[in-house]
Amino acid sequence: MTDMKHRILLADDDAMLLELAADVLSAEGTYEIIKASDGQDAWEKAQAWKPDLVITDLMMPRMHGYELCEKLKGPGGIKGVRIIVASSKPFATDKAQAEASGADAYIVKPYSPSNLLDKARELLSRDRPAAPHRPLPAPVMPEVPRQIPVADASAAPGRVPVYVRFWGTRGSCPVSGPKTIRYGGNTACTEVRIGNLLLILDCGTGLRDLGAAMLTEFQNRPIEAHIFVGHTHWDHIQGFPFFTPLYNPRNTFSLYSVHGAHGSLESVFSGSMASDYFPIPLASLAGKVRFIEMSGPVTLGPAKVSFCHLNHPGICIGFRIEALGRSVCYISDHETFGKLNGDNDMSRRQDAGINAFVQGSDLLIREAQYTETQYAARKSWGHSTFDDAVRCAAQAGVKKLAVFHHDPEHTDDMMDIHMAYCRALAQQLGGKVECLAAIDGLKIDL
Ligand SMILES: [Zn+2]
Ligand SMILES: [Zn+2]
Repeated sequence: MTDMKHRILLADDDAMLLELAADVLSAEGTYEIIKASDGQDAWEKAQAWKPDLVITDLMMPRMHGYELCEKLKGPGGIKGVRIIVASSKPFATDKAQAEASGADAYIVKPYSPSNLLDKARELLSRDRPAAPHRPLPAPVMPEVPRQIPVADASAAPGRVPVYVRFWGTRGSCPVSGPKTIRYGGNTACTEVRIGNLLLILDCGTGLRDLGAAMLTEFQNRPIEAHIFVGHTHWDHIQGFPFFTPLYNPRNTFSLYSVHGAHGSLESVFSGSMASDYFPIPLASLAGKVRFIEMSGPVTLGPAKVSFCHLNHPGICIGFRIEALGRSVCYISDHETFGKLNGDNDMSRRQDAGINAFVQGSDLLIREAQYTETQYAARKSWGHSTFDDAVRCAAQAGVKKLAVFHHDPEHTDDMMDIHMAYCRALAQQLGGKVECLAAIDGLKIDL
């Protein structure tokens, strides 16, 4: 009799939701169920257990839901498997991307038990379709632990200089002109230096200025840098082809993010430099460029870089850098879960998860694009308000908050008012968070 039961594999990093879904489906009495705590766990269990249906979350550590769908439905996947993506992300783009990755259905969490059961019944009543033949992305290069020299590494840890410098702090679209001179017009790019170790967060148009500064600093010495990309919307990658150190064969760059929603990280970058958009293809860059799809924290000399998924249309991750007793977190772009999906247990756990990720950091670089009034008209665009950023910093006990990803419509004078508001709110919330605006060119020593 057991053999007649349909097999359902559930994947979610929220243990409580995993338990709830398992209870709902078990009550039917006709399903055999196993649980997986993230995408990687699900992929390993699916290969061994060959489920008929996989119900998966999207934003999971180690392997996200899109990549799991792609693997399950690709060659080497599970023949005839059906997939329901159950995500708290209501963005239309996520539904479309999940379907393109192989999902048969998409439901938004929190869902009603009957909604889940109806979808499961419907999909399992269909004849097993033949497994489509989709090309799988090239295998991910295994990560090789590397020794990275750090200036004065023998000195006491506190003496190695660690600093952050902003090269681009505007969100969505670069701006120019007299009204945005003080805060700056370049899009997202932040440099983090830990002794000689050079990390770069995002490749917005600010990366072009960073490249020029590096040529002056390094002269003929080879440059090595590690570039962490939170997501690949234009404002976070547009500076990449204009980063002149890429065109020198002496230089080496490693690009880190997670697997794309439609293929490899490398394919997203090579697509953005296709001949319709840029005259020089990625493959023709003289510098050495390698792409690393993260499935967990990365260690680079004294630095550990970990990531968490953010609430933004498509795939988007935030970073936490820990090095020599100092910590920097980078959360851009992100819409507070409770604000988008309403105040419920799941949203509260998700927002608490982001706070826990940035907990106690020396510097939190956090996107805040809107006032509360502006947000009302831009809900579900995947961005935060000034209140969200300040409250997150205060709740997570961070020392310094750098408000980042300024709206293109916000002039210098408007930004002055927004920042005064942020500082007043930080005071109201206990006065422990130092609140400042990320400004193109600003350096913060840690
Ligand atoms: Zn952005
Ligand atoms: Zn974005």
